[in-house]
Amino acid sequence: MFKRVLLKLSGEFLAGEEGFGISPDTTARLARLIVDALQGSEVELAIVIGGGNFWRGARNGVGMDPATADYIGMLGTVMNAMALQDAMETAGRPTRVMSAIPMAAVAEPYIRRRAMRHLEKGRVVIFGGGNGAPFFTTDTTSTLRALEIGADVVLMAKNKVDGVYDSDPQKNPDASRFDTLTHHEVVERRLEVMDATAITLCMDKGLPIVVFDLFQQGNLERLFQGERVGTLIHT
Ligand code: UDP
Repeated sequence: MFKRVLLKLSGEFLAGEEGFGISPDTTARLARLIVDALQGSEVELAIVIGGGNFWRGARNGVGMDPATADYIGMLGTVMNAMALQDAMETAGRPTRVMSAIPMAAVAEPYIRRRAMRHLEKGRVVIFGGGNGAPFFTTDTTSTLRALEIGADVVLMAKNKVDGVYDSDPQKNPDASRFDTLTHHEVVERRLEVMDATAITLCMDKGLPIVVFDLFQQGNLERLFQGERVGTLIHT
């Protein structure tokens, strides 16, 4: 049974069919799914949201100063965090946004002990602004924040992929799914779970990761109850 979990959502989870920006309808459905799954569960939930629906520094910032391109990406994650907070609260769950880049008018600054206090009080905390540093992605933010707040696990939400496979299941019908893996195997086989910096940090600190399909009925509830879903990566 998990006491505290960190859920990593890609920015694309907020986009509509066009795959870009924020769709209020998509965001409302996502928030409802999360809030419903939390009903009746004692688990404390922190969320890291990415910004890929707006901007990824390395992909979109070609020709720019790479650090500036990454800061633009971080700002995108704050927009996403605000949209998700709005939808979570509309769905009935008190939610706080904490930004790694101080932005007093729209979000609390990230203060570790305050984040933990929010969680103890049953509020969902969304971490925006990534790590507040360029040359990272929000995969590292998930790992870093999970370690800081003492989360039991990082839940890597996927869309239409129900775990980690030995090859791409969209391209190879014979691809087989792993029930469990070690961090070391993920690194050695270069399996696409999270970026290299993030997975090695998880490995060093022994932080478990679950890769799962967010939209498979009941998955999030089951995870919040501590049941096995998707692929578990552990030491
Ligand atoms: N980013 C960054 N530092 C961080 C987190 C994010 O520079 O600590 C930037 C980086 O440019 C990244 C973008 O923000 O590409 C959006 O984050 P990410 O790619 O992780 O979003 P996701 O793919 O999860 O939607």
